[in-house]
Formats: sequence, C-alpha cells, structure tokens
Amino acid sequence: MGRITLQKVVKSFGAFDILHGIDLEIEDGEFVVFVGPSGCGKSTLLRQIAGLDKPTSGQIHIDGELVNDVPAADRGLAMVFQSYALYPHMTVRQNLAFGLENARLPKHEIDTRIAEAARMLEIGDYLSRRPGQLSGGQRQRVAIGRAIVRNPTAFLLDEPLSNLDAELRISMRAELSALHARLKTTMIYVTHDQIEAMTLANRIVVLRKGKIEQVGTPLELYNTPANRFVAGFIGAPSMNFLSGTILSTGADGTRLTVLGETQLTTSRTALDAKAGQKISVGVRPQHIRLAKPEENGISAHIDMVEALGSETVIHAHAATGETILAVLAGQHDLAKGAEVQLSFESRDIHLFDEAGLRLAG
Ligand code: ATP
Repeated sequence: MGRITLQKVVKSFGAFDILHGIDLEIEDGEFVVFVGPSGCGKSTLLRQIAGLDKPTSGQIHIDGELVNDVPAADRGLAMVFQSYALYPHMTVRQNLAFGLENARLPKHEIDTRIAEAARMLEIGDYLSRRPGQLSGGQRQRVAIGRAIVRNPTAFLLDEPLSNLDAELRISMRAELSALHARLKTTMIYVTHDQIEAMTLANRIVVLRKGKIEQVGTPLELYNTPANRFVAGFIGAPSMNFLSGTILSTGADGTRLTVLGETQLTTSRTALDAKAGQKISVGVRPQHIRLAKPEENGISAHIDMVEALGSETVIHAHAATGETILAVLAGQHDLAKGAEVQLSFESRDIHLFDEAGLRLAG
C-alpha cells in the first residue's frame, strides 16, 4: 500500500512561511507530480513526506498511520535525488546492496532483488563499476535501482532527470512511466518542467508560493485551468492573455470584445461575469490561425518568425501593443514586419477575471 494524506501541512523556516497549509490525498499506486516555479516549495513538501524535515504544523499519514514523528528510515519510502547521491567508493552492486545489508536481509534475498532491479533497468553490465565510471544516465538508473531494491511503499523523486541532456531525459521519462506501470507503486515526483509533469503524471499538483493552485489530471489542467497562473504554466508555449471586455451574458453565451476590436460570442457561459467587466482572454498559441479573408480577425504585426518545418511559430504584436504568439501548423511564407489577420475559435478561449480566476463555464 502507499496511500499518503496531508492535512493542513505548514512549514516555516524562522519567520518565513514556506508551505501554507497543504491538504492533499494521494491514492495507492498513483503517479503524482508536484510542479511549480523555482522556490514554490515543491522540494520542501516532498521532504516533509520523506521525513527529512518536520512540518511546523499539520499531519501526514501513510496508509492511515500518523508519521509526523516517525524517522525517515522507518517510513518505508525510497528517495531519488537529482544529484544521484551514490557512494563514489562503492561499486554499483555495493551501492544497491548497502541499504539491504544494513537492514540485515539474507544474502540470497539481496542477490535476487539486485538481479531483478538490474534486469529492469538494464544495468547488469555495470554492477562491478564505480559511479565515476558511469555516464549520467547510467548513474541515475543506479540511483533508481537503489530505490527499487528497497521495495518501498512509495517512491519520492526530486527532479531526478534534470542533470541529464534533453534526449536522455525524454527516454528516461518513458522508462520511468513503464517502470511505474510495472511496479504499480505510488510515485511522487517533483519537477519544474511542465512537460515532464504532463507526460508522467496521473495527477498533477500545481504549487505556487507554498500553496496548491490546482490538482487534476494533465488534461483537466490543460482544458480547464482554474486560474491564469495554471493556464500560463501548463502548456507550451505559454497561453496568450489578451485584454477583453464582457458585452453581455445570457443563456445563449457570453458576448465579448478582444483587444477592443474583435467581437465574439462564446458558449462558455460566464455566469459570474457582468456587462462592462474587464477580463483576460486566454488563447493557446496552437489555437491561433491565420484568418480567412472573409473573417474579421485581429490585426497583428509580425516581430519574429520561427520556421520549424512541421510548424511555424509567429511572435507578433497587436495595435494595443499586446504580444501574441501563434503556432501555425505547416510552413508559411511570412516575414518580420508583415501584417497578418489572426483568428481563433470561440470554443477555444478561456476567460479570467481581473483577479486571475477562471470565470465559470
Ligand atoms: P526549486 O525548483 O528551485 O528546487 P522548490 O519549489 O523545490 O524550488 P524549495 O526548495 O522547496 O523550492 O524551497 C522553497 C522556499 O523555501 C525557498 O524560498 C527556499 O529558499 C526556502 N527554504 C528551503 N529550505 C530552507 C531552509 N532549510 N531554511 C530556510 N529556507 C529554506
């Protein structure tokens, strides 16, 4: 089992409140990713769960047991760090065996577990090498192997892939996913990389300044972000936010203007909105296209074009000076300085009030 429950977890360092009362339930077998900008408290939260640090107040339960006063070594969890934290003077086999020998497991059991982990992670050929003789990717596999052999209740992973180059990170990501599918053990994974979060998680916890902004599946966060922060954080490149004003709301939808010129009606009923209210209209770059000749698009001037072959990224600005980023499928003959008409479907927009909260709908 690996059910982890946090209730009103607060962590302060001196006068600084770093975690402001975190409530979260992680089910057995879930792959949960904590994501958020640097300094938002992701690692601090993971450390409270691991037992490397003690909450200032609040409760942490693992499988129903209150663990606030249980030392890290007795929580049945295994941690994997960005730095690998391997013993440099030991061979890979000794690194894998170390914790098990300390726990006084019989030798045949240790050998079986090492063989099994080595097979899963394909590190069997390196067992007699020292960490210094391995590549970064191989070291990280050993670090993951050391966690696996402990047969933990849950894995806690703190940015485990961030020391690897981009290509290796992508392949290790796929391996971690496969490993989770195979082991079916709870995994809690910290990253500031939203793509990593989207590809790995069953559920994502978005943190900002020590508070949870939203918890949901990757697509829930992508399709219905609760606020502007989540909308801007999840999805790459980041969502555009354009100034808008509500004209009217009604059963047949919400009528609004974008950038003072384009009028549109969205069926997303902004029930809480009032006519005249200033709003922020969110549109993902992938949802913006070149307007058809008969359409009343948004006029924009191109500042930069990135021709990537399969898609064309346009950096532009509207008459208001607001910037617009568009990712157009395919190749387009567009140049810096050109004026274009941009458009999008009303069903693809997200509305946020001036406080940044999603307007209902
Ligand atoms: P990153 O992605 O950069 O690793 P993070 O979201 O994991 O960031 P934390 O490492 O949890 O952030 O840190 C959150 C805040 O708590 C930071 O402002 C940090 O300076 C502060 N902090 C962390 N540990 C301590 C400590 N032992 N004493 C004082 N402040 C701390």
